[in-house]
Amino acid sequence: MPRLVSHPDEVKIVSQRFGQGAANIDRYIELGGYQAVKKCIAQGPDWIIDEMKASGLRGRGGAGFPTGMKWSFVPKQSAKPKYVLVNGDESEPCTCKDHLIFLHDPHSIIEGTIIAGLAIGAKTGFIYLRGEYRYLIEIMERAVADAYQKGFLGKDIFGSGIEFQIITQTGAGAYEVGEESALMESLEGKRGVPRIKPPFPAVVGLYGGPTVINNAETIATVPHVITMGAAAFSAVGSARNGGTRLFSISGHVEKPGVYELPMGYNLKKIIYEVAGGIWKGRGLKAVVPGGSSTPCLLPDEIDIGMDFDQVAKAGSMMGSAGVCVIDDHTCMVEFAQRTIAFYQHESCGWCIPCREGTDWIKKTITRIHAGFGEAKDIDNVTTIGNNMLGRTFCPLGDAAAMPTLAFVKKFRKEFEDHLNGKPCPFAHKN
Ligand code: SF4
Repeated sequence: MPRLVSHPDEVKIVSQRFGQGAANIDRYIELGGYQAVKKCIAQGPDWIIDEMKASGLRGRGGAGFPTGMKWSFVPKQSAKPKYVLVNGDESEPCTCKDHLIFLHDPHSIIEGTIIAGLAIGAKTGFIYLRGEYRYLIEIMERAVADAYQKGFLGKDIFGSGIEFQIITQTGAGAYEVGEESALMESLEGKRGVPRIKPPFPAVVGLYGGPTVINNAETIATVPHVITMGAAAFSAVGSARNGGTRLFSISGHVEKPGVYELPMGYNLKKIIYEVAGGIWKGRGLKAVVPGGSSTPCLLPDEIDIGMDFDQVAKAGSMMGSAGVCVIDDHTCMVEFAQRTIAFYQHESCGWCIPCREGTDWIKKTITRIHAGFGEAKDIDNVTTIGNNMLGRTFCPLGDAAAMPTLAFVKKFRKEFEDHLNGKPCPFAHKN
């Protein structure tokens, strides 16, 4: 379970109630909770969407799509019911931020879900937690029950005459259902595999109705945007990247944990100042900046601002903001093997490039790591990875190929050393 940590450079917006007992509804109200939703009821849907657009809030799940724009895509009139779906299937390795929100501030998710519902005209919201977070569902369900008891959920929320219901659900534990259309399939009780797009969920989503799907951190941020005002929220971050981000810092640092920092905060400072530097006085070998599916960066590539645009410019992705720090005692072939083993295991098997590609790469890198690979194996890994990119049904194929290609490109010599009888100088000596 991630520890509660702090650093003077943190700007605590989303995490301001962590450790404050805010899972209790009365305490949440005492700390200013449920004021934002009252303001939204008074102002109406168009105002909410304009405010979200002006805030610069972008999706915290990984893709970074502007939240206000996503909400505006939902048709105003619909013959079918509309839905809000909160994606709490936090399954990207190196990422543990949504977990803390569910644990410490579940009402912020409820409040954000109601606001999203008001914005798009939905009467029902679903909060979906990953299967491995089953122990958190009790906290979430208790929070939802308390909100019903107070009249914040139900047929007449806050005495406004507006109806909004929330239903909680857990998955069975599959990385794949973090993909929005697979999430909807899972929620509908089917096998968690993606749907063909278009149509997109904003038009045809859950049970065929228009649906907004947002990551749990995104939804928990929404009430703060309303409370602070879009301009104040936007001013905290960098250009086109409003607000803060919960960074999950893991790996070989002295002070791992989840830190809330402004968008655009320097990655090098995150590692060497916020997280206390590389553990055991060692050197830095590489950084995976945004969850295990993002291409690694070398030490001379990390003097960059952590926002969606700047990390993309550096050749990687901000993704889930799960920063994994790798020290110079790490075998990168083994790291690559473990990474692809995860994606091979989690591939749903629906499409061939991913199902066969992840398996083939895993077998090849395992062979290289074991020291009995062939010279052509290294290029084969690259060829397979390149043939997966953009050719799979959902982003999992890219998520498996992108880090693999970066590992081979940036650490090719280590792969070659394994073929030349010089494997793993530091293996298992951590
Ligand atoms: Fe399934 Fe992988 Fe294809 Fe996605 S890319 S549909 S996870 S087989």
